[in-house]
Amino acid sequence: MKVGVLGGGQLAKMLAVPAQQLNVELVCVDPNEGSCASTVTNVVTASFDDHDSIDKAFADVDCVTFETENLPFAAVEAISKRFKLLPSLDALKVFQDRLLEKDYLNSAGIPTADYINVTSWEDIESFELPFIIKTRRSGYDGKGQAMVRNLEDAKKAWQELQGQDLIAEKFVPFDFEASIISARNTHGSTAFYPLTHNQHQNGILRLSKAPLDNAKLESLARQYATSLMEKINYVGVMAIEFFCVNDTLVANEVAPRVHNSGHWTIEGAETSQFENHIRAICGMPLGSTNAKGFSAMINIIGTQPDAYKLSAIPGAHYHWYGKEPRAGRKLGHLTLCAASEDELGGAVMIALKNVQY
Ligand code: AMP
Repeated sequence: MKVGVLGGGQLAKMLAVPAQQLNVELVCVDPNEGSCASTVTNVVTASFDDHDSIDKAFADVDCVTFETENLPFAAVEAISKRFKLLPSLDALKVFQDRLLEKDYLNSAGIPTADYINVTSWEDIESFELPFIIKTRRSGYDGKGQAMVRNLEDAKKAWQELQGQDLIAEKFVPFDFEASIISARNTHGSTAFYPLTHNQHQNGILRLSKAPLDNAKLESLARQYATSLMEKINYVGVMAIEFFCVNDTLVANEVAPRVHNSGHWTIEGAETSQFENHIRAICGMPLGSTNAKGFSAMINIIGTQPDAYKLSAIPGAHYHWYGKEPRAGRKLGHLTLCAASEDELGGAVMIALKNVQY
């Protein structure tokens, strides 16, 4: 089989490895020269609305998928008329826009923070403090967001962000954050990874740990993921990020793709999220999502750490994406695997001393 991928970043790079094992050929398209997947798979440099280049690159693919939801919708809509897009155009449309996403989550019975569509200063002025203003589209890793605690913050945020489509959502005083990574294949079979505990700093994921041992939240997260995937007839891997408040879940965001909080599954689960995404969109049976033990994933952000020292930690697996270091940029990650939570805690402490956190 052959699969086209929109985007050639680290997620495409990590999809390429199991694709090769499964005898699935990948061809990625990315508008930027030298994107990091090009070291392991075929990447064509072309803009997403360059029909000729896309048609040539994807000439004999069985389906097209994407590694990011931050894609120009009209261009992808045109692509979806010529190729089978998985996940579907509907899923992309809903989950690339924070307003449509929240409307959809609520219509599927999944709670979110209270939110409003912001079209004027008056909308902001009348919304109850504290809240966060976010761009509806193209925000990632905390970009395009501003925390509003008072009128001064609100004025500053409005000056910075006005002119873009915006939402404001109530600040959720969460106990902790968690995510569920699920998969659904073209035959409608589903699989769920154990709930993952996530820690963010300045809006960027820093540390994930799995499995998060909480049967009640696990069952609720699976229930929410099932209703969402069934409702939108989803195909592929999907992540839902949650705020955990008083032993219940409030959805923050949905990623219609493989997700950073699922990187631990490469070494820490029987089948990785990347392999299951390829299996799902190619109509293969899904692989077991069982955790092999206890895992943690630490993002490497901004600067290159000492790979030698990190690799020396028992159970460590170092991943470097091959990108130029830049402040706030995700450059790689480290997975730590252990037989017990205590052992994992020790390894995480050592690793964090060697990664700027
Ligand atoms: P997002 O880009 O929406 O995933 O936000 C990135 C991170 O910012 C989240 O994982 C939270 O740590 C924090 N955050 C975003 N929205 C809220 C909110 N409404 N209440 C509390 N924290 C938030």
